[in-house]
Amino acid sequence: MNEKKIVIIGAGPSGISCAIQLKRYGFDPLLLEGDETGGLLLNANLVENYPGFPLGVSGNELVELFKKQLKNFDINIHKTQVVKLDYNESNFVVETDKSELNAEIVIIASGTIPERMKSFNDDVKNKVFYEVKSMKSISDKDISIIGGGDVAFDFALGLSSHNNITIIHRRKEPSCLPLLFERVKKQQAIQVLKNSLLKEILKNGNRLVLQCSSDNNFEIYADFVIAAIGRSPNVGFLSERLLKVFQQKKKFKNLFFIGDVMRGFYRQVGIAVGDGLRVAMEIYHTKMEV
Ligand SMILES: Cc1cc2nc3c(=O)[nH]c(=O)nc-3n(C[C@H](O)[C@H](O)[C@H](O)COP(=O)(O)OP(=O)(O)OC[C@H]3O[C@@H](n4cnc5c(N)ncnc54)[C@H](O)[C@@H]3O)c2cc1C
Repeated sequence: MNEKKIVIIGAGPSGISCAIQLKRYGFDPLLLEGDETGGLLLNANLVENYPGFPLGVSGNELVELFKKQLKNFDINIHKTQVVKLDYNESNFVVETDKSELNAEIVIIASGTIPERMKSFNDDVKNKVFYEVKSMKSISDKDISIIGGGDVAFDFALGLSSHNNITIIHRRKEPSCLPLLFERVKKQQAIQVLKNSLLKEILKNGNRLVLQCSSDNNFEIYADFVIAAIGRSPNVGFLSERLLKVFQQKKKFKNLFFIGDVMRGFYRQVGIAVGDGLRVAMEIYHTKMEV
């Protein structure tokens, strides 16, 4: 067994693939996950671009297979949130909500966080969501989804079998994949409002009133709102000096970023998994001095 102490922050697709490949090289990486194994993928209704699944696969099913693979390689996931990452003369210092660890090599696979909708009253916040993994059992509700990209349309398709969905987006045409738009058009339970801007969310009893504008002002009633208006890198736990390394895209000895956290627009499972593999290979083949 290779003795180098390697910490991977995040057990989404990129962290998982990196851990598996490192294990195959004889390392014993410590895989830390603050939430659920599988990461953002747990929200995906249907993944059709990951090879090996001719009919596509749901995010949940794919994550279950990833978990089995981790188990076969005897890789445990440590349920802990990293709150700060910094370094001293000899090591990285990984501060978690449970303890402090030292590591010679750190791989950041922390994905993204959602862009938040600004300036809505506190009393509506508990009805505004940014992901759907906790909403899958909800039924018979009116749900408004804000955004016109792949994520908004995937959310809508996933929730429309048991709920009424309104997608509100501000462009003339949505920016999602054309095939997602075609599927949405066929769903009676989904209506799409284009050229529309959400201006305010108010509360009316238990319901939300969305005040919107298009050619005219109009209102929509909803039980929940889901915002899919973009995502940004999840790097809030980096110390100031490591944040600079990330922002300036500098190479920093034995620190690696993989997957969505560093991919900008190119956020896909296959890319994340490939990043994890590549970095594991780099670590093995470089035989880094630490
Ligand atoms: C609705 C939806 C549909 C999608 N559909 C597709 C699709 O069809 N095809 C496709 O290729 N891609 C799809 N994607 C994108 C895909 O899910 C992501 O590209 C992929 O999950 C990125 O993997 P990752 O490992 O880089 O990051 P993530 O999956 O975001 O995983 C990051 C992990 O790190 C953990 N973490 C973060 N910070 C910390 C910390 N401080 N301490 C401990 N743990 C931490 C998080 O909890 C998370 O589990 C979809 C995404 C969404 C939202």
